[in-house]
Amino acid sequence: MDFGEADRLLTVLSPSLGKLRVLAKGVRRPSSHMAGHVELFAHTHLQLARGRDLDIVTQASTIEPFRTLRENMVKVAHAFHLAELCDGFLQDADPHPAVFGLLLSTLHRLAGDDYRASFAARAFELHLLREVGYRPDLTTCLRCQSRIEPGANSYSVSLGGTVCPQCALTAPDAGPISSDVLKLLRHLQRTPNDRLRPVAVSEAVLREAERVMRRHLEFALERRLQASDFVRQATEAMPAAG
Ligand SMILES: [Zn+2]
Repeated sequence: MDFGEADRLLTVLSPSLGKLRVLAKGVRRPSSHMAGHVELFAHTHLQLARGRDLDIVTQASTIEPFRTLRENMVKVAHAFHLAELCDGFLQDADPHPAVFGLLLSTLHRLAGDDYRASFAARAFELHLLREVGYRPDLTTCLRCQSRIEPGANSYSVSLGGTVCPQCALTAPDAGPISSDVLKLLRHLQRTPNDRLRPVAVSEAVLREAERVMRRHLEFALERRLQASDFVRQATEAMPAAG
């Protein structure tokens, strides 16, 4: 966010300090040596000085600029989505090293060509939700506790996961979830992030998985996710990249 005459207020995620808002002075001046090192979504080594209200960036050097990510509208839209989720779910100065590692590895997946952006984003969401205490239950009915069998199951955001066909009739916000989507989400949820490999998934399944997860995330955050609309518009314009 632009701040004052030539400064910028940065929201950064640090492995040891958590989410922070820091001031980068003078970075909007063409002569700034720091400007190229505080780019959006870049992995950067920052040195901070404690300020009265805000910490101030005194040195910055880029570790990984993720340039390819910022050159592709679909990838950048997904990166905004990851950032919006980290910003929404994490409190200031509450360290979550696992979320930092998850974000960094997901940015690498987005920047590369091996993973569909939406596949990488759903894996990120499921692991993030577990880290912040909103892990969806995808194996038992959250009303009657019976095991979810393949079939006409539903998903309830207020209950936080799956509901069996019988219970869905009385769960107020239960919406259908297909067996293929359930299979994908379970796979992403139970695969440790560092063991995740690309899997071929149909367009329709990826789209439905996105809708289910978006409802869950928006319910948990109690607000609409703005970057999701950007992701949709970008994917419609460049379908092959989503
Ligand atoms: Zn049930």
